[in-house]
Amino acid sequence: MDMVNHKCSICGEPRPDFRATCLDPDCHETYVRLMEKECGQDKIVEDMTTGKRYLVPTRFIIEHGLKVNELPLFPLVNNEQ
Ligand SMILES: [Zn+2]
Repeated sequence: MDMVNHKCSICGEPRPDFRATCLDPDCHETYVRLMEKECGQDKIVEDMTTGKRYLVPTRFIIEHGLKVNELPLFPLVNNEQ
């Protein structure tokens, strides 16, 4: 997966800076599914200031990015897990 050359990570066509894929929705879907396969459907994200951990859908992170102040929107992960 090449994040440096600004090529779509699926089809290799040029892509905008802020995306991992070109604007083709098929590429986007393929990419989301690849990441879900690789990283899981959800990703555990820790809020460094509170030490709390949240379960955030991988798709959400890809499509919206993630801001610390949005973390409380997601389910808390029990720290014993
Ligand atoms: Zn593409």
